[in-house]
Amino acid sequence: MASEKGKIAFITGANRGLGYETARELGEKGVTVVLGSRDKALGEQAAEKLKSKGLHAIAFQFDVNNLTDHKKIYDYLEKNYGRLDILINNAGVMLDNATDGKNRTSVTSQDILRKTFDANFFNLIALTQTLLPLIKKSPSGRIVNLSSILGSSTLHANPSSPIYDLKAFAYNASKTALNAFTIHLAHELKDTSIKVNSAHPGWVKTDMGGPSAPMEVEEGGKTSTELALLPDNGPSGGFFHLGEKLPW
Ligand code: NAP
Repeated sequence: MASEKGKIAFITGANRGLGYETARELGEKGVTVVLGSRDKALGEQAAEKLKSKGLHAIAFQFDVNNLTDHKKIYDYLEKNYGRLDILINNAGVMLDNATDGKNRTSVTSQDILRKTFDANFFNLIALTQTLLPLIKKSPSGRIVNLSSILGSSTLHANPSSPIYDLKAFAYNASKTALNAFTIHLAHELKDTSIKVNSAHPGWVKTDMGGPSAPMEVEEGGKTSTELALLPDNGPSGGFFHLGEKLPW
């Protein structure tokens, strides 16, 4: 896949979990991966691990909730590459107390709702808006928004769907809202070469997914990687899991 060589990707929350795995998979394809990490040392450790495999990886201290960091990553990418080919909006939080499967929608606090939406929605959008001028300079810009099947309102409203009883309200609603961003931004950019898609990685064994998740992280990274490397005739404005369309 020589054509991926020279591409630049910025991945938020890339020190562990799906973000790290996506960085690894893109790095294996020849993409230069800039790993956003809140913790500088953990980011550097992650980048070193990839570099020891011969990949082009750079750690960048980055908190999606810190707007100064948005400006810093813009300046870094602008100065060093003059463009951004791939943005993976991967960093996310699940703050609902949902491990026991209880539905606490009526008592979900404003604090949980706001903190969840800050990271998973508002500041993700702010970052994308900040970096869009650099993505427009890429010949084939790709934006991948890490959503979740739990953001599917169609499935939540269907009593026979497998996620019907998984009502982690703040998290789920933040991913539904993120899906709206995907659709709206893709529409705005429909006459450009940029593709914007939502990814459901699957239920994956990470710190968020927990040890009971059926998917290994290597499999979990595939949806983001595929959407990051979509060909020019690939889809935009969709919601995908391993190449399959999910209902909104
Ligand atoms: P994870 O293991 O909890 O890792 C989350 C990553 O996001 C960490 O690197 C974390 O950094 C980072 N992060 C959290 N808040 C941040 C902030 N304010 N600024 C920058 N980075 C921040 O989660 P994961 O399972 O890899 O999930 C990655 C994405 O996939 C999330 O958006 C999640 O909603 C989505 N997803 C996951 C699953 C699953 O089964 N795992 C299923 C569907 C969707 P720190 O290390 O500093 O905390």
